[in-house]
Amino acid sequence: MPPSRVPVFDGHNDTLLKLELGEGTARARSFFDRARRDHIDLPRAREGGFAGGLFAMFVPSQADFDLNSRYDPNDPAHFAPVEQPRALAMTLRMAARARRIERASDGAVAICRSVSEIRAAMARDALALVLHIEGAEAIDPDFTALEVLHAAGLRSLGPVWSRDNIFGHGVPMAFPSGPDLGPGLTDAGKALVRACNGLKILVDLSHITEKGFWDVAATTEAPLVASHSNAHALCASARNLTDRQLDAIAESGGLVGLNFHTAFLREDGRDRSDTPLETMVRHLDHLLARLGEDGVALGSDFDGCLVPRAIGDVAGLPHLIEAMRAAGYGEALIEKIAWRNWLSVLERTWS
Ligand code: ZN
Repeated sequence: MPPSRVPVFDGHNDTLLKLELGEGTARARSFFDRARRDHIDLPRAREGGFAGGLFAMFVPSQADFDLNSRYDPNDPAHFAPVEQPRALAMTLRMAARARRIERASDGAVAICRSVSEIRAAMARDALALVLHIEGAEAIDPDFTALEVLHAAGLRSLGPVWSRDNIFGHGVPMAFPSGPDLGPGLTDAGKALVRACNGLKILVDLSHITEKGFWDVAATTEAPLVASHSNAHALCASARNLTDRQLDAIAESGGLVGLNFHTAFLREDGRDRSDTPLETMVRHLDHLLARLGEDGVALGSDFDGCLVPRAIGDVAGLPHLIEAMRAAGYGEALIEKIAWRNWLSVLERTWS
């Protein structure tokens, strides 16, 4: 008898951006229709046991960002600063899109503002959507937008993407390289962390420089969380976390979500869809050794990265669960990685 389906609560996807950029183009799609491209829609989410996750609102540097191309680490245009009014306008469009999806879903999608709302959504097989900002360009230094977006459901925020803004410095996607590639948080960035603590918004450490990481660690009152990053010891991308960073996350009772992007998984740092699932399990092994069973989760980066062909899209999540079983992970540990640890850290951050 096949083991029962394990639900997945995931730390990161770019589906709202994919839907937003596709609007009015040949790549337009509805969240409710099964597509053959991209990674997440409702039918495939159900098939894969995807119970929900953090849905990023990310604003690309280029207003005319080409959906068919991925970020070129060597093209500075992909990492240029973004003006606050454009970032806020696009963030509002993505938040409104999430709200329209929820309203049109007839209960099948729920924007969740608390862990009890996530649990309730999971209990009735609705998809639990948590609004997240990746790179806080939309936020003004007086936090007017932060207050209003929080009221609209925002519960998680990364101060920087891999570029600079008024709050701090993002880590370039360099390989091979350590993450210590620039300054950390500005004074405005430290104030943003304190404002997020006050509003009970999770502060996400993925995409920040190493200095910025330590600045957040010294400022925040919440557990340290990197929603979609991997182990630098196994893949020397500047986007990944050193053992020292992992130890600090463990000490804070925090968590790391495994990123499925092959260039952040592979020892050679290349984008290759034939990357085996065993490579992902090796990262999980390393993260478990540093963080313990309560500190490891998933942060797929679906709709924002190149995932291993063995997973393909959100419908392929059971293959990763199966790879964990094949590696000898017990069902209790698999449940922690798949969803329980995310709910636990969100509960401790939000309450
Ligand atoms: Zn990202």
